Amino acid sequence: MSSPDPSPNTPPTSFLSAPSTVRFDFENTYARLPERFYVRLDPTPVAAPRLIKVNVELARNLGLDPDALASEVGVEILSGNRVAEGSEPLAIAYAGHQFGYFVPQLGDGRANLLGEVMGRDGGRYDIQLKGSGRTPFSRGGDGRAGLGPVLREYIVSEAMAALGVPTTRALEAVATGERIFRETILPGAVLTRVASSHLRVGTFQYFEARGDAEGIRELADYAIARHYPEAAQADQPYRTFLDGVIARQAKLIAQWMCLGFIHGVMNTDNMSISGETIDYGPCAFMEEYDPATVFSSIDRQGRYAYGNQRLAAVWNLTRLAEALLPVLAQEAGSEEAGIASAKAALAAFDPQFSAARIAGLRRKLGLVTEHEGDAALVEDLLERMAANRADFTLTFRRLCDAALGEEGDLAAQSLFADPTAYDSWAVGWRRRLEADSVPKEERAAAMRLSNPSFIPRNHLVEEALNAAILHQDFQPFEQLIDVVTHPYEDRPAWERYTLPAPPQERVTKTFCGT
Ligand code: AMP
Ligand code: MG
Repeated sequence: MSSPDPSPNTPPTSFLSAPSTVRFDFENTYARLPERFYVRLDPTPVAAPRLIKVNVELARNLGLDPDALASEVGVEILSGNRVAEGSEPLAIAYAGHQFGYFVPQLGDGRANLLGEVMGRDGGRYDIQLKGSGRTPFSRGGDGRAGLGPVLREYIVSEAMAALGVPTTRALEAVATGERIFRETILPGAVLTRVASSHLRVGTFQYFEARGDAEGIRELADYAIARHYPEAAQADQPYRTFLDGVIARQAKLIAQWMCLGFIHGVMNTDNMSISGETIDYGPCAFMEEYDPATVFSSIDRQGRYAYGNQRLAAVWNLTRLAEALLPVLAQEAGSEEAGIASAKAALAAFDPQFSAARIAGLRRKLGLVTEHEGDAALVEDLLERMAANRADFTLTFRRLCDAALGEEGDLAAQSLFADPTAYDSWAVGWRRRLEADSVPKEERAAAMRLSNPSFIPRNHLVEEALNAAILHQDFQPFEQLIDVVTHPYEDRPAWERYTLPAPPQERVTKTFCGT
């Protein structure tokens, strides 16, 4: 693509505020992998790119200049209208099981990896455009993304990051000035996504489906070097790598469970090898606690319901272990030994998940030490919340006040259809708290760091998206980002953001919105 030099005719006003060059210092390690791992191609330009939002703090942490990213040239680059110096855009090949059915070729059908940058934390990060046009992997799709899904991913991924959950990030959102055609006509947008990498379980399945054992080995070596360097020194590097992916996923899913987060589409192509939450589609945070909750309009069987996420993760990781069998067998000495190695690795998921989940729930209840009856106390509360349709986030946040004294009970109790269900549980909880000799202020303060007041509640997300789509009003979106990136604070002025949806505004379905 041509890169016209924009500097000569830039008016003096923007000369001061808008830099005419944007330095990314791209590295392109993925582009050094064999050609069959991806397709090289530039993003497809859009009609009229316009900045929606740049993530100033993230940009700085990546060593990028946020003003430059927000400038005309920055917006041209991050809309796909200009290829930055040093970028080698490509679409990555991958496969995947979608709702249990294997698709041997998916791939980046509407995304371009621009390259990698080194963060201030020393990490390597992919810079990817999502919604950047058709690729050889597009199948019937238009290669584009709607404004709604782009803003949703921006809000929810930034909320997750602020909540301390490993996740891809949103660096910039731009409007394309084009219309896209879905059930209705929608404004188009492009999201610049930052990820530790875009390696997925499905990336390994792509080579498995082709009987390409050498591809699996090269991909595993790349993943080890990038995400699990300690595995390279181990006796059995590939087994150690699999152990590492399983450990990170067990911890990640436990974090989701402790926050009431529902991914919505845990297909194998949406599970990251690095252990980050990736591909925010019809995701949502649960309000009334019910493990059977599903938001995705495409998940009719409830395959990826809140309470099924552990099973879905194990299912996906089993597919990863299968794809790795050629290298596991080789390093274990035989096919049989390879299968045994895979099974042993997979068996570690449940205990690690359970340990991470109970540790998280202990923190949420303010329990510092480990006692025999803790799990029962936790499960008892969850059962009572389910039976009484208590709001998941608010119940735990209000327990922080209840931990200070019984005066806090009223607010927590009022969330239960039958308030006595809370009262009788709280008696046992208080007795248990006495076993930990922690000053109550200290306990409550610690609990506040595990129990957010602000999550991106679905009706608030919808409100922000609708204002942007219908009225080009991005103020609710900006405000919501501000709120959800301060999840653990108490701010009386933001009280409405803590509350569940009023009945008429309840969102029961979110749409994939591809
Ligand atoms: P997702 O549902 O976003 O996880 O995507 C699943 C697969 O469909 C991936 O291969 C995507 O690249 C592809 N895809 C989703 N939406 C589109 C679109 N609008 N155009 C082309 N490919 C798409
Ligand atoms: Mg996906």
